[in-house]
Amino acid sequence: MKRFTLLFAMALIIVSPAALAKTVDAVASFSVLADIVRQVGGDHVKVTELVGTDGDPHAFEPAPKDSQSLAKADVVFVSGLGLEGWIDRLVTASGYRGKVVTASTGVNPRQMEEDGKTVTDPHAWNSARNGALYARNVMNALIAADPQDADYFRQHGEAYIQKLEKLDAWAKAEFAAIPQAKRKVLTSHDAFGYFGAEYGVQFLSPVGFSTEAEASASDVAGLIDQIKQEHIATYFIENQTDPRLVKQIASASGAKPGGELYPEALSAAGGPAATYEAAFRHNVTTLAGSMK
Ligand SMILES: [Zn+2]
Repeated sequence: MKRFTLLFAMALIIVSPAALAKTVDAVASFSVLADIVRQVGGDHVKVTELVGTDGDPHAFEPAPKDSQSLAKADVVFVSGLGLEGWIDRLVTASGYRGKVVTASTGVNPRQMEEDGKTVTDPHAWNSARNGALYARNVMNALIAADPQDADYFRQHGEAYIQKLEKLDAWAKAEFAAIPQAKRKVLTSHDAFGYFGAEYGVQFLSPVGFSTEAEASASDVAGLIDQIKQEHIATYFIENQTDPRLVKQIASASGAKPGGELYPEALSAAGGPAATYEAAFRHNVTTLAGSMK
């Protein structure tokens, strides 16, 4: 009887559509987006990330292996809004002819004047509401790449989108409980614009939207004055960026360390920010904790 059941189960596995369906070979530009693709795609996607954990997605020098990953990919995901300045050259070099899906499509972009130029803030995923939009774009792209598994992607995608919408509501409630005057912090670079706008937190930083920019001496002096005037008590380092400048500014202005944030790179597996959801939750808890 037992053997019969086992054989029957094996036969079911062999003929079930799930076993016939394919695995989508996906490439994602950086670790945060790679996790979103994994969450939505589950067992039906194999994700290769270009910029890995603790890596800086602005400044990246692709290696030959990255070109090879693109060459054999079914679909390539980027965040867009100018984050991956290096992607077009890599796509051309690899000979990849498929779709490059921009996960931030539909986001209301933030813009800022930086050194006399209007620049777009690429860090849209730091609002969980935008994160849900990323997940929806990823879901639709996976369905297009592998229509046989559409039901699977829809089920996983919708469940994940709901999770991110709850996360967004939770973050709003966390910060709403803190007096506005206390919701001010100093970070290494300007990665929290969407976060600040969504959750009512004011972020200051010596470096602009890209970690590739450099702060001038007068920028730094102005920032130190501003921190003192606005009584900004806490500063944060970022896992993917050199912390020296923010530490210098903090010591000149008297701000105290609040911990480490994960604005644009996940931690390695087993770390405090191994998924997008965990990174976001960690950032909210760490920031809100410093303001109480
Ligand atoms: Zn950044």
